[in-house]
Amino acid sequence: MRRTKIVATLGPSSDSDEVISALVSAGVDVFRLSFAHGDIASGIEKLRRVRKLAPTVAIMVDIPGPKIRAGSFGSEAVALVFGTELTLSEGFDQISSAHEIFVEREGVLRALKIGDRVHIGDGGVSLEIVRIGASVVASVISGGSVMGKPGLSLPSSITGDQLPTVEDRERLEALRGEDFEILATSFVRSAFDVVSVRSVLSRSDVMIMAKIETAEGVDNLSEIVEVADAIMVARGDLGVRLPIEDVPHLQKKIVREGIRFARPVVVATQMLESMTHAHVPTRAEVTDVANAVLDGASAVMLSAETAIGTNPVAVVETMCRIVERAELNFPYRKWGSELGVQEVVGHRSEATRVTAAITGAAWRAAMEEDAVAIVACTRSGMTARAISRFRPPMPIIAITPNEKTARSLRSSWGVIDVIISEASDMNELTDMAIEHLRKMNIATDGDAVVIMAGSQRGGAATTDTVRMAIVS
Ligand code: PEP
Repeated sequence: MRRTKIVATLGPSSDSDEVISALVSAGVDVFRLSFAHGDIASGIEKLRRVRKLAPTVAIMVDIPGPKIRAGSFGSEAVALVFGTELTLSEGFDQISSAHEIFVEREGVLRALKIGDRVHIGDGGVSLEIVRIGASVVASVISGGSVMGKPGLSLPSSITGDQLPTVEDRERLEALRGEDFEILATSFVRSAFDVVSVRSVLSRSDVMIMAKIETAEGVDNLSEIVEVADAIMVARGDLGVRLPIEDVPHLQKKIVREGIRFARPVVVATQMLESMTHAHVPTRAEVTDVANAVLDGASAVMLSAETAIGTNPVAVVETMCRIVERAELNFPYRKWGSELGVQEVVGHRSEATRVTAAITGAAWRAAMEEDAVAIVACTRSGMTARAISRFRPPMPIIAITPNEKTARSLRSSWGVIDVIISEASDMNELTDMAIEHLRKMNIATDGDAVVIMAGSQRGGAATTDTVRMAIVS
């Protein structure tokens, strides 16, 4: 059983029904659909197609925020050579080249000044503005290859838009009636950004995932994690906007903070980047994926590897192998015992305190009795996420009558979702849970099983019941 989940970004290489189905068989838990490319109508059409093809996989829609894209460089790599000069022009749906890069945003070019830096994509290609006249001329100060429609990182004084941006607002309105589980929100800088996006989407059944990728997002991490439902360590933009050597340490900090608040945390970008073209990853990439698992990431994400790579299915298979191997060395017992103390000290609301105490008790009971599973009876998914934080070695079985909750838990570490009919009380839930565990070959006579359930306390979902059952 693999506990750390896998997110795969869909793109031109993974657009066919066959590849999407093969990716599900290979182990994808969440499909990410980027709404940064293409028009809204085709994005929604794709979302509906993926939903039909992969009814048990969670769908993450990623909205780009104030990210500015370059006009496409096409599907072949274009070399931007150190020291050469090129022109930046405003234009939509135009083809960029090594001589002219189109910037798909009105009005930003006139705000640029000589000496400003523009970073392209996540690969370390940078330009410096050297002349401004009839056109804006930049010199390549860090060369490299670019392809597709990379993001352009301009000085934040130029792109200081509020979230959601006008374009994202349109996307959110169009997405309001659609069937998806997670909304990844780019360039979140404050709790207010998350609240604003949530209120425009107006959906309580969609998790808002805050992408941490700016200095402000890092500075306001705790307040963002508290109001968001999930977090992404968006290392691509993070490494452009903050010193690149800070990224590994920020990753650890963001993962820990997400787990403290029981939020799924995805570690993203360039995890197996060389496999966009190569058959095998570099040793450094394998080590990076394993280290993300050991950091406690809930999920690891593939971007270009599955979106434009030559063999998306092989990349997912490789990632599964690396994750499964790393999990053999995960410090399960140490993790849970350290987390219990930190949680009780750190949180104050009544619902959170009760949930922390009960899930902590469930974890200790399961560890002491060597339980074969921890069952989380859950309507919203909250109880399953709250116990997932402890990273127990035994499977967490989330039983829920809600199909959407089941799918949203595909992003949570160690959780296996099972859809059940409504139960009237804890005894019925226990019987149903044990029946499922037997069917799944997880439990047999004499095994200990820990079962948790929740209720609403003053309107807040709270995990307040724990029971241990011996299967008979
Ligand atoms: C990132 O910057 O790491 C990221 C995940 O965002 P995007 O792929 O949308 O640029």
